[in-house]
Amino acid sequence: MTTELLLHNCSVVDATRTEALTGAAVWISGNTIAAVGTEREVRDALGNRRHRVMDLGGRFVSPGLINMHTHLSLSLPGPRGAEVKAMSAPQLVLHMADGAARTLQCGVTTIRCVGEKDHADFPLKASIESGKLRGPRMFTAGRPICCTGGHGHGSSGGLECDGETGFRQGVRQQIRAGADFIKVMISGGISGQHEKIDTRQVTRGELEAAISTAHEWGRKITAHAGPAPVIAEAVELGLDCVEHGYELTDEVTAAMAEKGCALVPTLVVTRCKSFFDELGVPEWMQQRSLGAGERHMQSFRSAVDAGVTVMLGSDMPPFWDFEGTSAAVRELEHMSDGALGPKAALAAATIVPAQWLRADDKLGTVETGKYADLIVTEGDPSLDTATYRSLSVVVKDGVVVRDDLSAVFEPQDAPA
Ligand SMILES: [Zn+2]
Repeated sequence: MTTELLLHNCSVVDATRTEALTGAAVWISGNTIAAVGTEREVRDALGNRRHRVMDLGGRFVSPGLINMHTHLSLSLPGPRGAEVKAMSAPQLVLHMADGAARTLQCGVTTIRCVGEKDHADFPLKASIESGKLRGPRMFTAGRPICCTGGHGHGSSGGLECDGETGFRQGVRQQIRAGADFIKVMISGGISGQHEKIDTRQVTRGELEAAISTAHEWGRKITAHAGPAPVIAEAVELGLDCVEHGYELTDEVTAAMAEKGCALVPTLVVTRCKSFFDELGVPEWMQQRSLGAGERHMQSFRSAVDAGVTVMLGSDMPPFWDFEGTSAAVRELEHMSDGALGPKAALAAATIVPAQWLRADDKLGTVETGKYADLIVTEGDPSLDTATYRSLSVVVKDGVVVRDDLSAVFEPQDAPA
């Protein structure tokens, strides 16, 4: 039987509205938003159907967050990462399922997994989709593709490929396993002691092979990338998204804007000393990360100024308790404060990623016909990004998976 839920006494806000709709209500039927509007309009639409009511006390309803850069099987250098690396396959899946459940509790209702170990992401995704496990919607790349010894090899499950044939095969293997999109490492990064952020790690032929194979199979492709020259080449060849972009230039951000290549800046990864300390991340990596922070922010600002599509992505586990909130919210605050402002930050965490994922018919706004993936905050997130810190309710697929307002449910009979 379909369950009917009325969220009332609230304001509704999303990135497509010029301002929040006050005095609003949302009717959720099953997993879908059945009506949204003024209290009167929604109650009229609901008619005399039996339903439950949740009084939101004047709070704001907005779309669930979409985090475009996650690794549920993340294992950074240091003792905590070594524990993850040592896990058996069953242990790893349970560890990832725990991370998925925690992520959902933080209001992140969709994640894009940009590189997981051992294809453990696929059964996890299937279990969430079938309702056996609670977690965010998952769009996943399977294993990230890198060159021999390239960024993320071994430790993060990177699949080592070489040559054009190797890269084509690597892409096809991920698609065969169920990949929604492809992730390729095209330069060094922060977490490899044997490489530098600006170490180029693909030939032009390998880049071309990876990008064209992904596109032939109808998949988008994103690249872990730091330095501008190799990014410029990848953008020219049709790359769909850049991760991190630690060292972008105005020339390359102009090219990204022109070609429609998005950026997921992951700003927290160069400003998260306490997180690294908790994991026991070694000194060399901490120095490299924190030392890149200023240049990283410059890159992000250049991208925003050029009109590049930018999207929320934490890289850190989205649920990590970090500087008084979750890593996902802290990342969005950096994006908002650094260049975007709250309205564009809201878009970068909701409708814009939904569009990149080609899922904006079902995700990213509070509209009739979309999945009921919603969160509740004290204030209006289009005016103040920090209000995400006051998250109290999370709804995914029409199910209330977090409710800090407590005991606001009451069965209500239909009016006579
Ligand atoms: Zn990453």
